[in-house]
Amino acid sequence: MAWHWIFGSLCVILAMMGNPKHQSLEEWLAARRKAMVREQIAARGITDERVLAAMEKVPRHRFLPKHLWEEAYDDGPLPIGYGQTISQPYIVAYMTEQLALTGEEKVLEIGTGSGYQTAILAELAKEVFSIEIVPELGHRAARILKELGYTNVHVRIGDGYRGWPEEAPFDAILIAAAPDHIPQPLIDQLKEGGRMILPVGDYYQDLVLIRKTAEGIVKESKIPVRFVPMRGEAEQSHPTDKR
Ligand code: SAH
Repeated sequence: MAWHWIFGSLCVILAMMGNPKHQSLEEWLAARRKAMVREQIAARGITDERVLAAMEKVPRHRFLPKHLWEEAYDDGPLPIGYGQTISQPYIVAYMTEQLALTGEEKVLEIGTGSGYQTAILAELAKEVFSIEIVPELGHRAARILKELGYTNVHVRIGDGYRGWPEEAPFDAILIAAAPDHIPQPLIDQLKEGGRMILPVGDYYQDLVLIRKTAEGIVKESKIPVRFVPMRGEAEQSHPTDKR
């Protein structure tokens, strides 16, 4: 009898040590998100306080199917269906920081995917226009963004190669799928003083930052990356645009 009592008490004590605060799932995920910002993002050199705050606020797990929630704050991309992936958190933070957003901007995003990067942009800019070529992904992302209360996001289904001319020009453009050349229509839709960040290349890709200045276009290769290819018109050859 005494043995049972001692054994039972030990089990309860051990279980409490494993989860000292009796956290709910949401609390556990928020703690994981905080650790993600500290260990994967700030530790690798992202310093923009607004970017760090947005990464800590946006619930990345909500953009994933439930069975992947526990992995939502891991250091990598994850599958979202239709052969596509949600980008690695660090890359989302890196690309966002490169746009140097202050809160006043009109932003164009190509490749809505899960909608996670869209939410980060919506936290940091005035308005976000996002284009997704896979209808099911675009509709799902739009629904989740609405559920989370974002009213400054507009999602359109289609090929983003030619941008969103009715809303141009944009202060910033972020492309989340890799073309093998820089799409000229998107450069044309960038405001003077504006910034565009995109992966460029086939198997080996570079993250390229483009700044449109009064003197012309300034291109800067940043880091090697691996994104899904940009579909649609980007796959046809545009020899004059080749780097
Ligand atoms: N930042 C997104 C990444 C999604 S992956 C996230 O974190 O979830 C890139 C997305 O670009 C995919 O959903 C793919 O379907 C989309 N895509 C590819 N080519 C496209 C094109 N030409 N126009 C619009 N979207 C495109």
